[in-house]
Amino acid sequence: SPLVVAVDGTSGSGKSSTSRGVAERLGLRYLDTGAMFRAMTWWMLRQGVDVHDADAVAARCGEPEIVSGTDPLAPSITVDGTDVAVAIREDDVNAAVSPVSTVPEVRGRLLRLQREVIAADGGIVVEGRDIGSVVAPDAPVKVYLSADPAARAERRAAEAGAADVEATRESLLARDRIDSGRTTAPLVMADGAVHIDTTGHTLEEVIGLVVALVED
Ligand code: C5P
Repeated sequence: SPLVVAVDGTSGSGKSSTSRGVAERLGLRYLDTGAMFRAMTWWMLRQGVDVHDADAVAARCGEPEIVSGTDPLAPSITVDGTDVAVAIREDDVNAAVSPVSTVPEVRGRLLRLQREVIAADGGIVVEGRDIGSVVAPDAPVKVYLSADPAARAERRAAEAGAADVEATRESLLARDRIDSGRTTAPLVMADGAVHIDTTGHTLEEVIGLVVALVED
């Protein structure tokens, strides 16, 4: 069966850059599952759905058509044909994505979409929070990336072009608390996952560590 590399971890741990880099180096496809949860959240906000009303979110989550591209050099995501790659990184989505992601119907719908993408032709690097534990528990390579909060906030603020590192730090720590404290798909280290603390490592070093695991 085709190779699946599961990359889980907190926001700002270097997950996206690492996953894309590994996919590029190994000629694999790439799937950002966080972008799918963000796209669902963007659609809910646009529809005026109260994102803290789990029943309302559950009732509507089957409606948007979410399509993720799998080219690591040109990641793309559309909702009903609209390119939302930029919009899903805005503050309103950052603030609403954790509550939307706790709704079991949302997770169930996106899980089906994720498994369809994974099952298509070719190996793939899949990044998220529950890839090694729920989405692809049989993946032969699983990594769990972490980094200390200061390093994570600096990376995220740099990516977003945000001047306020402190606000970025608060926003990602708030998401961590919800993501690890929730009962549906909490962020945990999957069985068989290799833990890599990226603090103090360059991106190239981390990519090299993961590539070595795959080639092992
Ligand atoms: O990875 P990223 O920070 O873009 O993910 C945004 C949010 O989507 C996370 O904070 C989490 O609430 C949710 N998520 C999830 N399960 C995944 C990927 C992301 O619940 N597999």
